[in-house]
Amino acid sequence: MESPSIQQRRYVASICEEYRSINSAMTDVVNQDEVSCSNCVHWHDGSCKIFDKELAGTDQT
Ligand code: SF4
Repeated sequence: MESPSIQQRRYVASICEEYRSINSAMTDVVNQDEVSCSNCVHWHDGSCKIFDKELAGTDQT
């Protein structure tokens, strides 16, 4: 199973409505975390159901 690239994770997180930073979930402090699925509470073991959907959606040109 190939894992998503860093660029894919950043792109999907930027368009994903479900994105929720692990850090902002734990604190009110708004910091400049990189917006990436890697930093999302929904990201587990290198994958996310929504990720696959979002990525597939971007293929529709
Ligand atoms: S991990 Fe899932 S829910 Fe979080 S930003 Fe990525 S696709 Fe969206």
